[in-house]
Amino acid sequence: MKKVEILASPNPILRKKSKEVEKIDEKIKTVIENMTIALEASEIEGLAIAAPQIGESVRIILVRVNEARDKDGKLIQKAIPLTAFINPVITKLSKDKVILDEGCLSYPGYFGPVERPKKIRFEAITIGGKREKMNASGLLARIVQHEVDHLDGILFIDLITDKSKLTKGGDIDVRKAERNKKR
Ligand SMILES: [Zn+2]
Repeated sequence: MKKVEILASPNPILRKKSKEVEKIDEKIKTVIENMTIALEASEIEGLAIAAPQIGESVRIILVRVNEARDKDGKLIQKAIPLTAFINPVITKLSKDKVILDEGCLSYPGYFGPVERPKKIRFEAITIGGKREKMNASGLLARIVQHEVDHLDGILFIDLITDKSKLTKGGDIDVRKAERNKKR
């Protein structure tokens, strides 16, 4: 199977502002395909990826959200299948903010608390060429903000005000072990 490398910080491509997609042609479809390959092969359980992370400075993000349930089996997060959003634009941010731990495929193994608006409204073009407007909250709102930042050369680490809260190591092995246990 084809291998697609995920660029790690401090690769300068990660700091470039990405260009808008003008036409969804074969080249763009290949970029999305390669993003899919990279995301699915990622060691850590990556939820999303932005095109610059595979070295393509174009405004595309690829997102998926796994279903999550609480202890009682109640659905707390609906699953969102792997979806490419082209030229995503966040049009509204809620005043309410929330702090959550984030990680990034370009910072393998690091996690840290980032404060972001809780809810967003965003627009993007889907692979079929349709412009869609969406509201997002919870994990999806978080992921879209993180990935759109990538398109502007912003990394989650820039948003962590207290760098002492950034953790590395341990967590990842635990997550992996849990994942393997489930299989
Ligand atoms: Zn990232």
